[in-house]
Amino acid sequence: MRILRTAAEARAASRAWKREGLRVALVPTMGYLHEGHLSLVRLARARAGRVVVSIFVNPAQFGPAEDLDRYPRDLARDTALCEEAGVDALFCPDAGEVYPPGYATYVTVEGALTAGLCGARRPGHFRGVATVVAKLFAMVEPDAAAFGQKDAQQVAVVRRMTADLNLPVELLVGPTVRETDGLALSSRNACLTPAERAQAPVLKRALDAAAARFEAGERSAAELLSAAGTALAAAPLARPDYVDLVDAETLEPAGPALVRPALLALAVYFGATRLIDNAVLTPSFGSC
Ligand code: AMP
Repeated sequence: MRILRTAAEARAASRAWKREGLRVALVPTMGYLHEGHLSLVRLARARAGRVVVSIFVNPAQFGPAEDLDRYPRDLARDTALCEEAGVDALFCPDAGEVYPPGYATYVTVEGALTAGLCGARRPGHFRGVATVVAKLFAMVEPDAAAFGQKDAQQVAVVRRMTADLNLPVELLVGPTVRETDGLALSSRNACLTPAERAQAPVLKRALDAAAARFEAGERSAAELLSAAGTALAAAPLARPDYVDLVDAETLEPAGPALVRPALLALAVYFGATRLIDNAVLTPSFGSC
């Protein structure tokens, strides 16, 4: 496995593979890898001859009061996991390579895709995400890039940005990988205390509670949100940041009764650690 540290090295490797007729897929990550990331590596591998994993804890997507310094890092372990997973190259630029002195260009996706959910609670977050993904696409020049549905708003933002900027990158989206108790895998899970970890599966229980009502025919957004909220309230250490239902495609508010696929999205604090999760509720054809 090659270790690439500069944009020039990444581009040279990618272009050499393409000259051999190989498709290149990128899996952008912030490291501290887990099975969720590795599932995206497998998805990428199924669609391309060469897989590049990027590891970059992107300062531009963290607010001043957020957990940039606390964010877990272990490059040695990540390198071993990527090697084992058959990754062809690890791209781990430092901050100065991505944002050199004088850096002044940012990509902003405007409108409903970034107005609500994490966009409302983390000002500037998606500007940082869109900027770094656009830059990773420019540096690695992948044919495809894999993202996790766990970060559903990120997928929507990256999809819009890729289309709007005419970037020739196919987006691959993988399902959320979970612990056996339902907790979505996240690098931030390592920051939970044992007591917080024990209560963290409440996010999935809240999604399941709303989904069960939905399956039983409930279409009132207020009722579905209330089902999720009640489930969250059962975990005393959980401090909900938001519980929201939005249109699954546009991310606009879902309206009082669900008639189109809706994204039920949660962000919940446990101490200083903020976890997110989501589920898509799809009314079956012909239902009202
Ligand atoms: P991160 O390192 O948290 O920025 O995540 C890198 C990529 O992995 C993003 O596309 C995430 O959506 C994806 N990802 C994170 N957690 C999971 C998970 N539990 N299941 C599937 N994909 C995930």
